[in-house]
Amino acid sequence: MSEYKFFEQVNKAFDRAASYTKIDKGILSQIKACNNVLHIQFPVEMDDGTIRVIDGYRVEHSHHKMPTKGGIRYSTMVNEDETMALAALMTYKCAVVDVPFGGAKGGIKIDPKKFSVGELERITRRYTFELYNKSFIGPGNDVPAPDMGSSEREMGWIFDTYRQLSNDINAEGCVTGKPVGQGGIRGRTEATGRGVYFGIKEACDNAEDMKELGLEKGIEGKSFIIQGLGNVGYHAAKYMTEAGAKMIGVAEYDASIYNKDGINLEDLMSYKKENNGGVSGYDKAKELDSNTAVLEMECDILIPAAMENQLTEKNASKIKAKIIGEAANGPTTDKAHEIIKERGALIIPDNYLNAGGVTVSYFEWLKNIQHVRFGRMGKRFEENSYKKILSVIETISDRKFTDDELAVLAQGGGERELVDSGLEETMVNAYNEINELRKHHNVDLRTAAFISAINKVGSMYRGMGIFP
Ligand code: NAD
Repeated sequence: MSEYKFFEQVNKAFDRAASYTKIDKGILSQIKACNNVLHIQFPVEMDDGTIRVIDGYRVEHSHHKMPTKGGIRYSTMVNEDETMALAALMTYKCAVVDVPFGGAKGGIKIDPKKFSVGELERITRRYTFELYNKSFIGPGNDVPAPDMGSSEREMGWIFDTYRQLSNDINAEGCVTGKPVGQGGIRGRTEATGRGVYFGIKEACDNAEDMKELGLEKGIEGKSFIIQGLGNVGYHAAKYMTEAGAKMIGVAEYDASIYNKDGINLEDLMSYKKENNGGVSGYDKAKELDSNTAVLEMECDILIPAAMENQLTEKNASKIKAKIIGEAANGPTTDKAHEIIKERGALIIPDNYLNAGGVTVSYFEWLKNIQHVRFGRMGKRFEENSYKKILSVIETISDRKFTDDELAVLAQGGGERELVDSGLEETMVNAYNEINELRKHHNVDLRTAAFISAINKVGSMYRGMGIFP
C-alpha cells in the first residue's frame, strides 16, 4: 500500500474546512463516515482453464441522497483505503456541483492490460453479480460508472448482467458511461475532460485572480503539462489545445517528455497507441530522466490526470506551475498542497474540477429513468419557432438568410448540445460559488469546495433528522 493513507488525506482537508461551518460535531462525524464497505473475493476461470481469485471492492460513503454514485477502478493499486477515499470524494464532489447523489466507489484489483477481453468480461460480470446479490447496484440504490482502467465496454457488460438478473424496467439506470446504443448519453466519454477544461477556463477568465498569479486573463497562449493521457487527460488536453493553450509536456506511466515549442496531441496519441499506451521513444520531444520529471518543468498550468499521490512533499517545492488543475482524484497530498499554496499557486481541486463526469452521468441516469432522449420532444419545436422568427426578420429587414446561416441560427438543442450546455452551466456556477467562498473565508479553493459540500450535506441531515 502507498505510504500516503488516502482516506486520511481526504479527511484532513474535510476537518480543515469543517471549522468554517456551523454544522454539529456529530453530524460532521456522520458525513465523514463510510456507510457501507464491501470487500469480495470471487473465482474466475481464465482462458487457459486455470482459476484465479479476484479481489473486488464497493464502498457507499453517504446515503444522504440516493442513489449513491461512483466509478469502478480496474488497477492493481486498488485497496479498501483507496476505495473509501474515492467514495468520500464522490460525496463531496456531487454536493459541490449540485448533483443529487451520495458518493460511492468500486474497484477490481487487477491489471486490465494483462487479461484477455473474454477474461475481463467474465471478471466484470461476476463482480456485477456479487454487487447485485448484496444490493450494491441498482438505479435506485447504487450506480457505478467508469474510472481508471475501465470504459464504456465494461459498463455495457455491467448493464447487461444487471438486466439479466433483475427484470427492472429502469435497468438502464443501473450504471452510467454506457455505449450510446445501450442507453448511454452523447458526450459522457469526453465529459470529465471537458469539465476540466471548463473549470480551468473559468479560472483563467477571472482577470483579478490571474493578476494575483502574475498571469494574463484567458486560456489562449497558456502553456500546460499533463500527466496521464487516458480518457480524462486526453480530452482535457484536446479542449485546452483547441482553445489555444499549448501542451509542452506529458508524463505517462513509462516516461515523461518535454518540448517547449509544443507537442502535437493527435500525433502523440497515435504513437501511444502503437506503443502500449507509453510515450517513451517519441522523437518529437525530449525524454526526461524519470516519468515524473516533467511535472517539475516551467509551465503555466499543470494537469495531473492519472492517479492519486503524485504531488507529494518530495516534489512539491520543485513544482513551478502557477495553476494546478486536479483532473485526477487525489493527485496532491495534504503536505504538498500546503507547500504549493505557500508558493502562491492556485490549486483547482479534484472535488470540483473532475466533476464533469458525474454531472453527465447524472444526465445519463435521468435519461434512463425517464426513458426518453434529451431533445427528442423539443428540438423540432424550437427549430420551427426560430425559423418563424427568422422569417419575420427577413420580411422586415429585406435581407434573406443563406442556408448556412439558417442551419446555425435555427438549430434546436439535440442531446449532445443540451448535455454540453448543462455541463458548462454546472462547472461555471460551481466555480464561482467556491471562488466566492474562497474569498469570503480567505482560504484556498479546496477548503472552499469542502465548505460548500459540508454545508450542503450537513443541511440535508439537519433537515431530515437522524433515523429512528
Ligand atoms: P484512464 O485509465 O483512461 O487513464 C489513466 C492514464 O494515466 C493512462 O493513460 C495511463 O497510462 C496513465 N498512467 C497510469 N499510471 C501512470 C503513472 N504512474 N504516471 C503517469 N501516467 C500514468 O483513467 P481515467 O478515467 O482517465 O482516470 C484518470 C483519473 O481521473 C483517475 O484519478 C480517476 O479517478 C479520475 N477521474 C476519472 C473520471 C472518468 O470519468 N473517467 C471521472 C472523475 C475522475
